[in-house]
Amino acid sequence: DFSQLEKNVRSLSLKAEGKSILAMVKADAYGHGSIPITHFLFNELKINDFGVATLGEGIDLRKNLSLLGAQIFVFSDLEFESCFKQFIEWNLIPVISDLDSLKIYFSHNIQRYLPLVLKFNTGMNRLGFNPSMVDEVIRLCKNYNQREIFHVMSHLSDSYMQDSSQVKKQQEVFGEIISSLKTACTIRHTSIGNSAYIEQEMFQDESYVRPGLALYGGDPV
Ligand SMILES: *Cc1c(COP(=O)(O)O)cnc(C)c1O
Repeated sequence: DFSQLEKNVRSLSLKAEGKSILAMVKADAYGHGSIPITHFLFNELKINDFGVATLGEGIDLRKNLSLLGAQIFVFSDLEFESCFKQFIEWNLIPVISDLDSLKIYFSHNIQRYLPLVLKFNTGMNRLGFNPSMVDEVIRLCKNYNQREIFHVMSHLSDSYMQDSSQVKKQQEVFGEIISSLKTACTIRHTSIGNSAYIEQEMFQDESYVRPGLALYGGDPV
């Protein structure tokens, strides 16, 4: 139901006060069909940024849609050592969340083709650099003369709850990570919020939000 999808996007945009939307279309757009959903979001609603879970999902979008100018972020299962060439070939941006992948990014000179996007673990404990790894990340950036981090991300564990103390804790850790990174690099974008975070308007000064569930009509709270 594209008209309902449009209403959902409008309502999220209104809440998110001018922050950009990175639409999560992973898992076949939560079962709604990632090809038609992404086509509509890009062409009709002018959303430019999309998130998928796997390289295969990203290639599927690039093969089936003309998404000229769109940015597609791949969040997990990078298999970066064996697949980095495909990321370049298909213009898919890896969300790097471990040191091995970051080293591959630098040692194969992927910085020439794809912007650097990093994800930190602030308490979700699923994916991401731990806060204690910030210094090592900075050291690598300096070594390889990386002056800009295009987007720094984190993901929330408990944003669906009305008790916002865990979200606040994660926001605080995220803020500290960003301050540290800024001593070495320019940071263009940041994002932490999923659907429940947007619904509950817990915003700080991040430039993007990343809704999934609420795009498709689920109540995330
Ligand atoms: C799935 C996902 C989202 C969206 O989460 P919802 O709760 O469905 O809004 C945001 N960010 C990341 C990293 C995700 O994996």
